[in-house]
Amino acid sequence: MTDSTPVTWLDSAAITETISETVSEDKAHILEILAKGRDRHGLDYSDVAALMTIQDPELMHELYDSAKHIKDSIYGPRVVLFAPMYISNLCKNECLYCAFRVSNKALKRRFLTPEEIAEETRILVNQGHKRVLMVSGEAYPPKEGFDYVIKAIETIYATHGDKPGSNIRRINVNLAPETVENFKRLKEAEIGTYQLFQETYDRKVYAQMHTHGKKSDFDWRATALDRAMEAGIDDLGMGVLFGLSDWRFEVLSLIQHIAHLEEKYGVGCHTISMPRLEPAHGSDVASDPPNAVSDSDLKKIIAILRLAIPYTGMIISTRETPQMRRESISMGVSQISAGSRTNPGGYAAEENEGTFAESQFQLGDHRPLNEVVAELAELGLIPSFCTACYRLGRTGDEFMEWAKSGEIHHRCGPNALSTFKEYLIDYTHEETQKAGGIAIEKELEQMDRKDKSVSENLLRRVKDGKRDCYC
Ligand code: SAM
Ligand code: SF4
Repeated sequence: MTDSTPVTWLDSAAITETISETVSEDKAHILEILAKGRDRHGLDYSDVAALMTIQDPELMHELYDSAKHIKDSIYGPRVVLFAPMYISNLCKNECLYCAFRVSNKALKRRFLTPEEIAEETRILVNQGHKRVLMVSGEAYPPKEGFDYVIKAIETIYATHGDKPGSNIRRINVNLAPETVENFKRLKEAEIGTYQLFQETYDRKVYAQMHTHGKKSDFDWRATALDRAMEAGIDDLGMGVLFGLSDWRFEVLSLIQHIAHLEEKYGVGCHTISMPRLEPAHGSDVASDPPNAVSDSDLKKIIAILRLAIPYTGMIISTRETPQMRRESISMGVSQISAGSRTNPGGYAAEENEGTFAESQFQLGDHRPLNEVVAELAELGLIPSFCTACYRLGRTGDEFMEWAKSGEIHHRCGPNALSTFKEYLIDYTHEETQKAGGIAIEKELEQMDRKDKSVSENLLRRVKDGKRDCYC
């Protein structure tokens, strides 16, 4: 695929027509769609359009309840945790909503050296993290170019924490679109998920928001996931930056994009993110989004997506408040970040360093990892640090087969417990250990005999001092 090949799968006119034609909610029809969604077969484009019309509080409640049903039956109480790591804020693009935009002369530009990347890694590992989402602006140090990214990945994987057997075991990346050749290098460097947000599928708004640099080419970005697939990366993370255009247009576009990937490559996306615009240094667009998405609309989006793509991981970052994150977990979110910093070197910086002026955007949840874990455990949830799937080759369509057959449940459940136990022993104190122990016992009681026995075996090994135990 060459630069700027126009996408063929996005039918904006049809989406606009669908939105204007699907005007009112038809109760019987909505209930029918929700019943279909509860069967875990996913929903099609017109079902999604119909659910978007829900206004009636009773139907809204049904929607949330159906999403919760799917979340509980596929994911159980597990919540996967990760931390972003910003390695550089160099950028040649002008995205009006982002503090890293090239025209923001007030931003202190910085890219981390290998030593600094190792230091950030050590800090995260010593907090108990096992998964990192590596993030960068869209420009790399001139002397190194894309080699910089590959070396950063190697450095993170090669760095160990103070506890025996502690390291980052999965690196996902959120990086600018690349050529097939460079995507192949990312694959060889053993990334987990390649994550890329289209920001907006509305071409007009896209042009207004991305005024300079490579990112102003809508089609280069919209075809990036095809190039990643062609390079063999089959765990893809998608997303929209909510607040730029009408959320209903974005959700239907996402559905078209996923359908395209499924049709062409046999697998859609591995995760989906729902970031909302947050204030960013000097950005009017970020402080006053042109199409701000309300809390209730965000919850609606989460619930609809949970039903539409039941086997896709859903991610909520620390952009959102603790309250919103709690609610979103009950409706379908399966992965959250914790203790995040959005400035390069943010973890090593002193408390009052790396201020808003140096960060990519403002956070809604500032709690450290241990507080987030303690809260999850007290809510009876199981914080999971599992990284087993991609290391055992369960990626792309193979992962989806495992997921759809329900087999994955027999892996995720025990692995969540063993990695949570590892975290409890190595990184927490008595109170959290107690709450965590209760949550683990409760989960063991719910398991069938085989899963319980596999879990108990893993838990025993962890208790005996073994680390990185998974199935
Ligand atoms: N530079 C690359 C790019 O733009 O794709 C990758 C990293 S960029 C730092 C990651 C994401 O941050 C962007 O895709 C965008 O959706 C999000 N982002 C930028 N500004 C934001 C803001 N003000 N609020 C929330 N998210 C923002
Ligand atoms: Fe650069 Fe990405 Fe920020 Fe745009 S969103 S200015 S490309 S870092």
